[in-house]
Amino acid sequence: MRASRTVKSATPSFTRAVLRTSSSTHRSGCVLIAAVNERVRATLRLSIAFLCLLCLAHVASARALEVKITVASVNPARVRVEGRRDEASTAWSFLNTYAGATNLAERIENLTLYDESGATVVARKLAPGEFTTERPATRFAYELKLDPPAFVSDTSHVSWLAADHGLLMLGDILPLTQNGAQVELSLPVGWRASTVETNKAEGKFDVTDAARAVFLVGRNVAERRERVGGMTFTLATVGDWAFGEGEAADAATDILKNYAAMTGGVPSERAMLALVPLPQGAGNLWNAETRGSTVVLASGRLPSKVAALAQLNGALTHELFHLWIPNGLALEGEYDWFYEGFTNYEALRVGMARGQLTFADFLNSIGQAFDNYKAARGAREISLVEASKRRWSNSAALVYHKGMLVALLYDLTLMRQSGGRSSLADVYRELFARHKRGGKNMDGNRAVVELLALRQGVGEFVAKYVEGETEIALAPLLEPFGLRIEPGGARTHVGVADSLERSQRELLRKLGYNERLGAEARKLHEKLKRRQSQ
Ligand SMILES: [Zn+2]
Repeated sequence: MRASRTVKSATPSFTRAVLRTSSSTHRSGCVLIAAVNERVRATLRLSIAFLCLLCLAHVASARALEVKITVASVNPARVRVEGRRDEASTAWSFLNTYAGATNLAERIENLTLYDESGATVVARKLAPGEFTTERPATRFAYELKLDPPAFVSDTSHVSWLAADHGLLMLGDILPLTQNGAQVELSLPVGWRASTVETNKAEGKFDVTDAARAVFLVGRNVAERRERVGGMTFTLATVGDWAFGEGEAADAATDILKNYAAMTGGVPSERAMLALVPLPQGAGNLWNAETRGSTVVLASGRLPSKVAALAQLNGALTHELFHLWIPNGLALEGEYDWFYEGFTNYEALRVGMARGQLTFADFLNSIGQAFDNYKAARGAREISLVEASKRRWSNSAALVYHKGMLVALLYDLTLMRQSGGRSSLADVYRELFARHKRGGKNMDGNRAVVELLALRQGVGEFVAKYVEGETEIALAPLLEPFGLRIEPGGARTHVGVADSLERSQRELLRKLGYNERLGAEARKLHEKLKRRQSQ
């Protein structure tokens, strides 16, 4: 049972939390990584912006690395990395830049390389994270400084260690590899590790893809396991929160079940949410990344349980969907408009379905997205597909806000064209049936545009608003559905029209509209307006 009073007072920060991931000016954004390949690595090196990165083709794993990672000290934060790779090489690379975090390779100290006989091979640094040797080397040893990042916005994206816990993300710890690894973790006494990787023996893991592997390590890692369909979901937390672990696990499981029902299945056999306190402290900030099957949520700890749960629900509603979209899909390329913009829309829908958001909150979010879209669009309209390609040069806000508006308008158009028999949820279901991860990799833009346009009566809409450069004129586009822009006010407020046709009423009900509450809200709105004008 949910206490409706609690939910209501929690709503504003829930909305803020959902929208925070969509804020282009905020450095906290979610970042996704499916698997790293060379092309993506090049992008990572070039990237200075933060937003969500989709990384490309999954490369079949071979155990190319054997490695032991020892937490040598937590103050200062240091790990020692020693290991061997299968193939000898004269080129050694380490991740230097990722999702706005820079100089990662500068954390490496005392790099020593050896040949197979154990003789030292001299390494020469070419650039940060790039080394060359005169003779091929196979064995390696180095130390890594793992102080917590200075910026909140980097916290879920890179490895770090605090006094009692930390995140070990193999992507920035190991030499860059497209392959799997056998990993041994040597942790301080009393510490344990939580991960979705296969635990072979005490402290030993079989990692299928090092770029996707995340370990939450610490003295007091609490684990809770739940089942969602065929998926084992682990909530791994450290630290004290205003809410109980059971409440966090219930929220996550409930959200996962909503998405599983909508898409027709689960994205993987195992998934994990690693919930860690921000080492920088800041209460109302959070930062998240979905990497492979792991959602890392680094969050400030709000003292109020209601506010803390609202923040958690808001972050999870967006972030957990990334386990499906795009991480559960065999799609590649820059289709961020879909996996970010459309995800923002679905997160609002699920927030409403779970009673965390009201229909009025939903409409407010649409108005806000429209204002943000107008502020971001610049002199000339660009298509969503184009905006995704230019995400590094200031089109990120369009990807999120225009993407969300187009998702709403598409859903409404499809519902009307099909007489309420079809909706965006059906497209998600089909997307999964056709392009689930493990199948043949395809271009994401092509696959998604094709599926969206396939439904009857929406081809023109997709051509205009996804592929085309048609500006979104919100008022006339909403009008046929019984929605309108409320007059006056510097900000855009979307409301329900005074009189609705029967078909409009039915359609809005499907979105979560409740006439009785709508009428009460309208009366309140009028009253406030009168009071303001007095
Ligand atoms: Zn996202």
